[in-house]
Amino acid sequence: MAKVGRTTEGATPVELTADAIQAFETRFAGPVITPGDPAYDETRALWNGVIDKRPALIAQCTGTADVVEAVALAREHDLPVAVRGGGHNVAGYASVDDGLVIDLSLMTGVLVDPVARTVLAQGGATLGHVDRETQLHGLATPLGVVSATGVAGLTLNGGLGHLRRKYGLACDNIVSVEIVTADGQVRTATVDQNDDLFWAIRGGGGNFGIVTSFEFRLYEVGPELPSLFVWYHGDDAVDVLKAYREYTKTASRDANTLAFTYAVPELAEFPKEAWGEPAVILFGAYDGPESDADAEFAPLKTLAAPIVDFSGTLPYVELQRLLDEDYPDGLRYYWKSVYLDDLTDEIIDHIVHTHGESPSSLSTVDVWHLGGAIADRDADETAFAHRDAPYMVTYEANWEDAAMDDANVAWGRTGISDLRQLEGVAGAYGNFPGFDEAPGDLLFGENYERLVEIKTTYDPTNLFKLNQNIVPRGASQADD
Ligand SMILES: Cc1cc2nc3c(=O)[nH]c(=O)nc-3n(C[C@H](O)[C@H](O)[C@H](O)COP(=O)(O)OP(=O)(O)OC[C@H]3O[C@@H](n4cnc5c(N)ncnc54)[C@H](O)[C@@H]3O)c2cc1C
Repeated sequence: MAKVGRTTEGATPVELTADAIQAFETRFAGPVITPGDPAYDETRALWNGVIDKRPALIAQCTGTADVVEAVALAREHDLPVAVRGGGHNVAGYASVDDGLVIDLSLMTGVLVDPVARTVLAQGGATLGHVDRETQLHGLATPLGVVSATGVAGLTLNGGLGHLRRKYGLACDNIVSVEIVTADGQVRTATVDQNDDLFWAIRGGGGNFGIVTSFEFRLYEVGPELPSLFVWYHGDDAVDVLKAYREYTKTASRDANTLAFTYAVPELAEFPKEAWGEPAVILFGAYDGPESDADAEFAPLKTLAAPIVDFSGTLPYVELQRLLDEDYPDGLRYYWKSVYLDDLTDEIIDHIVHTHGESPSSLSTVDVWHLGGAIADRDADETAFAHRDAPYMVTYEANWEDAAMDDANVAWGRTGISDLRQLEGVAGAYGNFPGFDEAPGDLLFGENYERLVEIKTTYDPTNLFKLNQNIVPRGASQADD
């Protein structure tokens, strides 16, 4: 009589007995981890060190049949459910206190069809798993920019990577998904089959079920790409960002860049006299001929005297791993975003000024250049609504000391809320969500009502609520 499940206010707590767990184990192929297990702490840990949840049970699925069994267990015992893909969501949605984690991190299989130019990736695959296999064929699908990130969470909320302006969001390149819905049914969603579900999963997050596999379109990419990675001193940040804004107005779709403020790390590859100084960095890649990349990026390399310029041609898989070591597991993180109509002088001043106030030298403020293929689709073509915005700004608070949690969260939160007071600032991106604080209208805009309808059809009791939650009609978010 060990594990307590859902503690609905005013109702008798539901108990998940040792017998019930044993019975589940006979039906479930993968490891079933409970608090006494030696692997418990390692298995429950998430990428964000701030999150410290203690689930009653972690069901590590080996395939779709295990996912179906885990969903059945949750329904049978009325357990709070978290779904884990790559475990990289900053808000820690991939775990739950006293509930069931349906963990797909063992489901990392990737199958490439080089003739059809598609790839099938299981629901626990990371970007690195997919890139490694697709690049064997000189192919890639647009995902994100850090290889350890989970494909599932990233794609279901949109997915912004090095190919976004050329080929769109990760979710724009889904051909089909296999998904286990709250009723335990295994469904396929494509443009022709369960089309409402297919619309909703492309930007509506993990609300509609557990995706056990994604089929993505592939494109010829690499194997090497020219990259941009130039570091300027923070004294030049305002001028560099203004010039960057002008560049983005005519940038090629082959060029995907972002600008971010940071402090120069104390590493041998940087001049010692610059260590700890504020910096602004232009980072990106060019998916086209190297000679064209030179012309495209040359003006961005001479905006001031650079501290250092690491730009150069490198294998696509290396490009995808270039930032990995900046985001180690277990460090403390709080990330939040907004979209901009324009990168105005006022916004640039705000970014540069607030970066200087960050309590941690590891934190950044990032300006993503969007547009291109992202904006080719109408806002209601998929659930991802923020198609027109040419820029997204993200406050990334990154720090080491738990005693500094409040100060760092406050820095990120205030940076964004002050930005929201300025003209042309709107919306929020589901993949950089702060700690569960963006309401549906900010996230989903005009698409929100349709998402509520589809949620009500496929998950009327809100079984999948640990996400950017869309509350079904008749349920309330506090209903747990
Ligand atoms: C280091 C780092 C770099 C990042 N870089 C980028 C980037 O370049 N571009 C970008 O767009 N985003 C980026 N992100 C944000 C990233 O997209 C989100 O953190 C995303 O949630 C990660 O997905 P995950 O599978 O690891 O999430 P998890 O934490 O495992 O899950 C998060 C949410 O997704 C849902 N979910 C997970 N798996 C499934 C599934 N199989 N089926 C249904 N729902 C599921 C869960 O319900 C949960 O709500 C980055 C994040 C990190 C930590």
